[in-house]
This record gives sequence, structure tokens and C-alpha cells, in this order.
Amino acid sequence: MDAPLQRTIIEPFRIKSVEPLRFTTRGQREAALAAAGHNLFALRSQDVLIDLLTDSGTGAMSAEQWAAMMRGDESYAGSSSFERFEGVVHELTGLRHVIPTHQGRAAERILFTEAVGAGDVVPSNSHFDTTRANIEYQGAEALDLLCAEGRDMESEAPFKGDMDVEALEAAFERHGRERIPLVMVTITNNSGGGQPVSLANLRATRAVCDRHGIPLILDACRFAENAWFVVEREEGHADRSPREVAEEAFRLADGCTISLKKDGFGNIGGVLALNDGELARRCRNLLILTEGFPTYGGLAGRDLEALAQGLLEVTDPDYLRYRVRTAEYLAERAWSAGVPTVRPAGGHAVYLDAKAMLPHIPAHQYPAHALACELYLEGGVRGVEIGTLMFGRPTDTGEDDPAANELVRLALPRRVYTQSHVDYVGEVIAAVAARKEQIRGYRIVDQPPALRHFTAVLEPLAG
Ligand SMILES: *Cc1c(COP(=O)(O)O)cnc(C)c1O
Repeated sequence: MDAPLQRTIIEPFRIKSVEPLRFTTRGQREAALAAAGHNLFALRSQDVLIDLLTDSGTGAMSAEQWAAMMRGDESYAGSSSFERFEGVVHELTGLRHVIPTHQGRAAERILFTEAVGAGDVVPSNSHFDTTRANIEYQGAEALDLLCAEGRDMESEAPFKGDMDVEALEAAFERHGRERIPLVMVTITNNSGGGQPVSLANLRATRAVCDRHGIPLILDACRFAENAWFVVEREEGHADRSPREVAEEAFRLADGCTISLKKDGFGNIGGVLALNDGELARRCRNLLILTEGFPTYGGLAGRDLEALAQGLLEVTDPDYLRYRVRTAEYLAERAWSAGVPTVRPAGGHAVYLDAKAMLPHIPAHQYPAHALACELYLEGGVRGVEIGTLMFGRPTDTGEDDPAANELVRLALPRRVYTQSHVDYVGEVIAAVAARKEQIRGYRIVDQPPALRHFTAVLEPLAG
């Protein structure tokens, strides 16, 4: 469409402030991993060279965001920074009531405390883990209704985050509209490989909600990446700006929860926005109880300024083209090293398929954990296991109930790493792949009763 100057898709920014990387030797990394109980969450960040643990709160702020922070109005009530934040969120979403929170899960907890009750059912394309946990904490059921292509790792379908709309209709029939207080859609689908949701699917979901008179709430952490995929892939949207597409998506909803640590370009922050004035009033009362006064909601005035500016920057097409291309480029490096990934690449991360790569390591010896540890030992690259260590359950036989997939997620912080960093990660993946037959599994030495992947202690199995 444009950009005749672009050959390689370059980083659409130059660097004004730098943070040195700390290089380590293989011996130092072996010692650090052993000291961490072979759990990558227990490493000191100083011992990590390229940190792809998460894209949440790890982005780089722009010069304009840093400048905006100096304008932060730290007044307890009626801060002008809140007015700016509220204006930007209102323009983007069209939603009437804007409630700042310290991060996404706080917005979720406040909304579900007021809108969801024991015995309720909350359908979604796929709930993110904090969303699911907050719904279950209310005694309700979090129901995932992802489309069939989304469950097939190798499908190259363009919108693998779509809701299965027939299954949603069936859920209304089975449970009745009285038990379904709201429907959620996560854009992009973080739990399902960062795959996008089409506008057509959002519209169809909206139509089901309308038929039953039930509100549609977006979990919109990656609304800008989702909009870019719509521009690139959905028929009839190629000539639109990602901003227009994002605005349209929000206008199909009655409310949203957003972690602004993702597409808000913030290191901290979240928001709950709603059209229903009565529900918003109750949510604000709970906000005052646990987060803060409604014009700051657990954030500093300077945070609100940085987030308002970040929300304006993130829909820049040059940024989104570079962003989505980076993940695709990393996936291509993995493929050329013979390492399979979830296809197509997601917006914010690449998911390596350890089950396919390491068939000699059974699920109860944590193949994806083994791969993640090898990437660290080989080159100081930190990813996260999404497999049997995270989701499996111990059983009486001593062999865990396996998870459906064994993945290593390499999440890309926003505007932080350059193409040569990504090339380096590709080299590390290739070096590990070249000796994959020698990689051994792990066993758990000590684990807590819940969310074990964060704190479990492991040890490598003898060869
Ligand atoms: C990160 C995330 C959340 C939770 O946000 P936090 O800011 O980490 O509390 C909710 N939903 C999705 C899809 C996310 O990616």
C-alpha cells in the first residue's frame, strides 16, 4: 500500500537511552540455573541476556511518554492526568465510564465481583489464566469456546482466536441466559498462541449476545496487534487504519478490561471501561475500597499520562508492521532450524513445539521445560514453559497427568530488542536443535500445591 522505502522491515525508532546487557559464560549460567533449582522464574534477571519471559510490563517507553510523565498531576482527586487518560480511553473505546486500575487483573476482579455470582457461567473464546482464576474465585465457571482451527496447532487459518459461535449459542441453551451474566472475548488470544479474532466473528458473537440481552466484554490487552491482523488478513479491511479497526472492535462491546502493560506501552497499569452507568457506579465503589479514588485507581498521575500517550502511539501502522513481523521473523528462524512452532506466529510471541521436537522426552519429564533450560544454558535466552510443568497434575503413579501441549513461549517485549537480538535468539535455537537427541528431561524435587511452575524445584535426569 505504501512504504516504498522499506526493504527490510526496520525498527521504526532510534535509540535515545540504552541499558547494557550482561554477558555470562556457560559455566556461570550452569551455576545460576542450579542455584535457581532449575526453575527459570527463580533466576536473577542480571543472569539473563535476552529475556523473553513475558511481554507484560517489559516494553520501552517513548520519549513522548517520558516527557508526559513530567506533566503528571498527582492530585488525589480531580487530577488533570486522569482527564487526559479518560479522554484517550473514551475516544478509543467509545465506552462512557473509564475506571483506572493498577493492572488488568484488578479490573477483572472488580468487574466479576459486581457482575458474576456463584453458579454463573462465563463463556469466552479462551480465558486468560488471571481471568479464569478471578471468575472461579466468584464460584462461577469459566468456559472456553475456541473455534476448531484454534485448537489445531498446525492450521494456518488466519483467525485462530475466533469464538465458536455455535458453541456459544449452545451454551445459552444449556445453561440459560439467567446463568450467563456476560460473554468475554480475548483479543488477541494469549492462551491460544496470540492468535487474532476477526471483526466478523466479533460481530457474530455480538449478535448472539443481543439475542439474549447479555453484555459483551472484551479482554482487550492486545487490541492493537489484533487490529493489525484484521487489516492484514480480513477481507475488506486492507485499506483501513489499525486505529479505525480497533475503534470498531471496541464499539461492538459493552465494556472492556485491559492490562495496559501490553498494548498500553506501560510498565504498570490497567483499565475497566463500561457503558452501564449503574454497574460502573458499583465498580467505582469497590475501586475506592481496594485500589484508590476513581481519578487514579492505584496509579500515579504520571502513570496515567504515560499510558494515555502509549495508547495513542500503539496503533501506528509502522510500529505494528514491525511488531508483528518480528514474531513472524523469529518463527521463520525456528523453522529453518527444523524447530516446529504453533502456526502462524502470534502477535506477541512465538511458541516452540517441544513435544514434536523432543519425542524422546515423555510429558512427565517436562520436555518444554527441558528445552527452555537448554535455551538459557546455550545462550542466556529466557522463555517460559507452557506444558505439563505449568498445567499437569501429580497422580498416584508418580507420572503427571500430561498437558495437551508442550510449548516454550518466547514473548517479545515491545520496542526493546533489535533484529540482531532476534537473529541471535535464532542462532541459539538452532544450536540447541542441532544436539536435540542429547537433551534430557527433568524431575520435580519439590512443588507447592497450586501454580507449581512459579516455585517448583527441579533436577535434570541422568543421561
Ligand atoms: C496480561 C493479561 C491479563 C492480566 O493482566 P495483568 O496486568 O497481568 O494483571 C488478562 N488478560 C490477558 C489476555 C492478558 O494477556
